[in-house]
Amino acid sequence: MATKKCPQCAEMIMLEARKCRYCGSLVSGGPAKKFGPYNIFWIVLGILVFMGSLFLLILFLPLGILGIIFSMVFLIIGSRRLHNT
Ligand SMILES: [Zn+2]
Repeated sequence: MATKKCPQCAEMIMLEARKCRYCGSLVSGGPAKKFGPYNIFWIVLGILVFMGSLFLLILFLPLGILGIIFSMVFLIIGSRRLHNT
């Protein structure tokens, strides 16, 4: 079992221990859960993908609406010419 040294009484205690069994002082339990470079990388990647998708949405939403309008206009023109003949 992995052990660590208590910062208060310097006794060897379990690595996962939150409370020292010798002096009763609270110690940071378990493996360190800090924002490592790995976590920051994924957060930055998520933000970048989110911003990119937002940018694409803003860029292509008007084009999509314009495409629908143009297709409706073409369909109306086409149906009118078909009915007139
Ligand atoms: Zn202790």
